[in-house]
Amino acid sequence: MLLWLSALQACTPESNLVPGRRPHAADLTDTSHPEHPPPRSDPTTTSTTTSTSTSTTTTPPDPGARRWDCSGMDPADPAPLHGRVALTFDDGPDPVDTATILQLLHDEGIPATFFTLGEQVSDPAAWGLVEQMVDDPLFEVANHSWDHADLATLSLSAVEDEMDDPDALLRTFGITPRFFRFPYGDATCATHDLATDRGWRVTGWHIDTADWCYASGGGVCTNDDYWRVPTEYEDDFLGLTMEQIHRFDGGILLLHDIHRFTADMLPELIGILRDEGYVFTSLDDVSTFPNLVAGTPEDLPYLGERCDVLDDRCWMVEHEAWCEPTTATGTNGICTLPCENSCLDRDGAATTFCADLGGAGQCVGRVDDENDACAALPGTVATDMDRFGWPAGTVRVCAPQTW
Ligand SMILES: [Zn+2]
Repeated sequence: MLLWLSALQACTPESNLVPGRRPHAADLTDTSHPEHPPPRSDPTTTSTTTSTSTSTTTTPPDPGARRWDCSGMDPADPAPLHGRVALTFDDGPDPVDTATILQLLHDEGIPATFFTLGEQVSDPAAWGLVEQMVDDPLFEVANHSWDHADLATLSLSAVEDEMDDPDALLRTFGITPRFFRFPYGDATCATHDLATDRGWRVTGWHIDTADWCYASGGGVCTNDDYWRVPTEYEDDFLGLTMEQIHRFDGGILLLHDIHRFTADMLPELIGILRDEGYVFTSLDDVSTFPNLVAGTPEDLPYLGERCDVLDDRCWMVEHEAWCEPTTATGTNGICTLPCENSCLDRDGAATTFCADLGGAGQCVGRVDDENDACAALPGTVATDMDRFGWPAGTVRVCAPQTW
């Protein structure tokens, strides 16, 4: 610990950075995909991705070709978000619940983006709702694939169909989609390129409301159901959501307009946000989401990426991270950052784990095929470490040699 702290102080330009003492240290994202019931099992295990698709799988990315901007989940714009919140609703339209939500948002004058599925839009029962979205300047209609396949597991031609078929359908309504969200937030560099080549802004999120989980449990989402929900919030959807909003001072909210639960909770959520002074905005608010609007997420190193200079920073929502040198005097370490539960990871190159480092959480990469069992993370060595936070567990990770 002492060695680590001294190494940290030697390599960080922000001498006041002390792991575990950041007021808002937790990160939103990790290597599972909370956008919906995640396709992968609990990330405390090292399970492999499964898919029900019959399409061929893409080959793993070349480590040398990994890029900082391939995530389908990470938000393009870091916190703080200056009290601005943007509502996004996925997986609809639903003839009943979307209708309720549209009416509420219209009456309240609140903008929202609807990441629709092609197969939902193709239902004639949804056409009136799509037209309602088109006619109302508050609403944006965006693309969320045809049938919510995990696009990281399909052949690229199949991914193109998943992107282009709903796009063509939406265009028959006069819509030119500008935003795309990967189902489960699961993207590869190749599929990410397919989206940006089409001129779309890949849209992640800051706030994972876990509404789908609370909806399926009648208002209760246990930590066993979804590991991102701490036990203290198991019956507190609003509490979980507001905790994140407070932490990031706003952000893009991930919601689903196919659940009665979400429609029922929305008035109270809106009321709380207004009472606390938050302002609703849209995804094309360039002052709040400049990187998203420009289609160019901030170019920062991410967890596990090799650092070239001492003051490189990891990607993270609150700009507090540093490069961990490979030796006490080295300069080409890996990027690490403090954490409370989960970690940011740009593209899966360092599938992450929040390790307990003497009472402080520090993000590290797991031993994983995607980082070649640490070989792709220079200066690390496979080490068993305990999790900082919940749930308790031990994982073999790629820890900096200086730890
Ligand atoms: Zn979805």
